[in-house]
Amino acid sequence: MTTIEHWINGAATAGTSSRTAPVFNPATGLSSTRVRLAETTDVDTAVTAAATAFESWSESSLSQRTKVLFAFRQLLVEHEEELARIISAEHGKTVDDARGETARGREVVEYACGLGDILKGSFSDQVSTGVDVHNFRQPLGVCAGITPFNFPAMVPLWMHPVAIATGNTFILKPSERDPSAANFVARLYTEAGLPDGVFNVVHGDRTAVDAILDHPGIAAVSFVGSTPIAKYVHERGTAHGKRVQALGGAKNHGVVMADADLDFAAKHLIAAAYGSAGERCMAISVAVAVGEAADPLIEILERKTRQIKVGPGNNPTTDMGPLVTAAAQERVETAVTTAAAQGATIIVDGRGLKIEGHEDGFFTGPSLLDHVTTEMDAYREEIFGPVLAVVRVDTIDEAITLINTNPYGNGTAVFTSDGETARRFQRNVNVGMIGINVPVPVPMSYYSFGGWKDSLIGDSPVHGPEGIRFYTRTKVVTTRWPHR
Ligand code: NAD
Repeated sequence: MTTIEHWINGAATAGTSSRTAPVFNPATGLSSTRVRLAETTDVDTAVTAAATAFESWSESSLSQRTKVLFAFRQLLVEHEEELARIISAEHGKTVDDARGETARGREVVEYACGLGDILKGSFSDQVSTGVDVHNFRQPLGVCAGITPFNFPAMVPLWMHPVAIATGNTFILKPSERDPSAANFVARLYTEAGLPDGVFNVVHGDRTAVDAILDHPGIAAVSFVGSTPIAKYVHERGTAHGKRVQALGGAKNHGVVMADADLDFAAKHLIAAAYGSAGERCMAISVAVAVGEAADPLIEILERKTRQIKVGPGNNPTTDMGPLVTAAAQERVETAVTTAAAQGATIIVDGRGLKIEGHEDGFFTGPSLLDHVTTEMDAYREEIFGPVLAVVRVDTIDEAITLINTNPYGNGTAVFTSDGETARRFQRNVNVGMIGINVPVPVPMSYYSFGGWKDSLIGDSPVHGPEGIRFYTRTKVVTTRWPHR
């Protein structure tokens, strides 16, 4: 049994803790590795290393930082396959999906490579007679990222390239369920020439999270995960005077109008609902069928759902892998059972699926539920699994009200061939990321990423211009050079 250790000051280290947690291969249900769980003292060691590195890294030239980020980006390209296989083996998603995750994360590095342009300040000549004003941005110091299991490479990549490009140093506390990708990325940074201590990884559970939130040497915390933990992190971090951005959970609705191309809509809803076994914050978990769209849509959805091939993520013919843990598998199957008990119609039942040769894997099949109502748990709770709930409404306005009444506001989509409907939808839904005939409207790295309402606690989304703002402070300088 090997142990995944922390990465502090450019080297793997066990730190002071004897605590570990098992890491599973979800396709087999077996564990051959474990991850070290940090104590408060280990976080302190990482902060000391990062604070020391900050002294020189914050003074490094923009061209030196760009050079390291370019090299890092190239290494991510060269090692994409290796990284994708590491992700798939601990998360369960298909290798192809994991490749997509690394590519999306890499785009943030590409954005950060433009730091010379991004960090330009502004200058106002002659604001008063003989007086000029200019501004510039400076890094905060040691920043930390606390990240979820579902994108073990991409979500941290939303954060650290931007923090590092802007002159900060970084401590990543990844999910303890799939921790290996973080160490792999740390080694690539070292190979790219990043000085020791600029990027560190501390593995752990709540003890490590609390130590980060309380530590006076950490200036800012970026969090992505479930809403209850996002609220906790935001409250505790800001109480300690830190900047905190905290992205939470989701319940994303895909609205289908009767005038939409139903085949197209169903195909994309299937990908958005069941891709990565529904373990995506941008997954569509509610299909809102408007008026006469409902019956034909359900028919196509059923047909396509039954065609999904479930299997281990490293099999190239697999469409959908297992869930991340046995607990997640049980939670999802219980949600389907509860939905049926509360009156939903089960059109496709994914419960109890066994995959030959992988009988102990954490598999469940895709489930499709019809006649789901807003009172049911299947509508109210984030199931975070391959369950698509269909809610029927009569009009687009009813669909918009439904979305706006939901506490989450991460992503949403509308399928329609009518421009007026699309425009009304995008203007009136209280959601941060909207797709028009695009089911998963994930913005590009040069836009920011973040939802509204309970999907984003605090006011700062990640990456893009908002990421630059989050990891820097502005100075405004007013200058006069009087004549002698
Ligand atoms: P999680 O909230 O359980 O864990 C996230 C992080 O918090 C992990 O590093 C974990 O170790 C830590 N953590 C867990 N419990 C804690 C506690 N009690 N105290 C302190 N720290 C704790 O989330 P998850 O299950 O890893 O990920 C899935 C969730 O993340 C879903 O809700 C999903 O919607 C959300 N998510 C959101 C986005 C987004 O962009 N909004 C992106 C990805 C995932």
